[in-house]
Amino acid sequence: MNYRDFLSRNISKIPESPTLSVNQKVSELIKTGEKVINLSIGDPDFDVFPHVKDAAIRAIREIPMRYTSSYGDFELRKAISTGFQRDNNLIYNPENQIVVSPGPKKSIYDCITALLNPGDGIIIPRPYWEAYFIHAKFCFAEPIFLDTNENLRLTPESLEDTIKSHSSVKVVVLNYPCNPTGVSYGESELEKFAEIILKYNLILISDEVYDIYSYEFEHISIASVDNDIYRRTITINGASKKYAMTGWRVGWAAGPLEIMKMVANVQGNTSSCVNVAAQKAVEAAILGDQTPVMKITEEFKRRRNVVVNEISKIKGLRSIKPEGAFYIFPSVEEFIGMSDNGKPIMDDIEMSDYLLNEAKVATIPGSLIGRKNHIRFAYVRPVDILIKAFSQVKSALGKLK
Ligand code: PLP
Repeated sequence: MNYRDFLSRNISKIPESPTLSVNQKVSELIKTGEKVINLSIGDPDFDVFPHVKDAAIRAIREIPMRYTSSYGDFELRKAISTGFQRDNNLIYNPENQIVVSPGPKKSIYDCITALLNPGDGIIIPRPYWEAYFIHAKFCFAEPIFLDTNENLRLTPESLEDTIKSHSSVKVVVLNYPCNPTGVSYGESELEKFAEIILKYNLILISDEVYDIYSYEFEHISIASVDNDIYRRTITINGASKKYAMTGWRVGWAAGPLEIMKMVANVQGNTSSCVNVAAQKAVEAAILGDQTPVMKITEEFKRRRNVVVNEISKIKGLRSIKPEGAFYIFPSVEEFIGMSDNGKPIMDDIEMSDYLLNEAKVATIPGSLIGRKNHIRFAYVRPVDILIKAFSQVKSALGKLK
């Protein structure tokens, strides 16, 4: 039977998540015994804190595991509100300004679905983490890509020019520290972005899931810059990256009450609510001692310094120094067209394959995430493994002529 005619034409055009599909392939390869160092997916390699696990176990034993509000369990929302105030200088009312979902990705989906009509424009700085444009496509909205500059930074001038040349724009996405570049923004840049959002009467989705992984300066939430931008911003965060809880699936969005009511409507109608034990665990993660979180940040900073140093030893590989998150995104342009006594490597997709086969290091090709001739490495492995990985990359690239 041919099922094609039964499938949604819209969804059929939507690509698989590149990071999840590369990770899937690599995991299968590793299962067959291949010694691959997997730097493809942004999955922190730290164990979940014992008090967080205990909270989940206690919840399973002691409380009825029933539906919670589609906004999320109220105790968790109170904890998230406390965390926003403590870590981001942001006040959100837990009653009606915070919506918990099964992961930051789902929070972004809920917000994009709540905001965009077919044909509405959403500006997505490029390179990007892939989900924003895919979610826009789910709603028949128009993703408008905005290329960042040669240092992979979004500039206020280019943002304003793009808004001026697209009358459909309604929403802008900002992700900082950025996946895949590690670029982050300080107060003066954020103020300029905020002015533009206000001037053109737009809504901002600010994805700050890497906020604690900020290595050069303290992370500032754009919604905390002033009251006007606060009223136009939805802040996204979650437990996945902050507390190394990717598989627990807890994320949240916070913003203006009326928007959040619609976001809760999407969330409730798609997922009902999040697993109760996971919600209780995240509550414990937010309210518990934050020292282990700071230790993870210190470790990622150390790794960042190591990978920057290792890359600087590889002739031809060029990268900016990431200011946050746990990715580095060097250009491989100088190697394009070269070969290892065989077929020349024609683009970053072939380069990523070459690194997998020759260096046994799994990566994400830049063109799948909006910038060709770049490669994303997630430094989510211990320092000794990272040094080994980049030494293997160096030998593999050294063979190219
Ligand atoms: N936002 C950014 C910038 C990300 O990089 C990711 C995941 O990689 C997410 C949101 C979504 O996190 P999760 O997949 O845990 O929902």
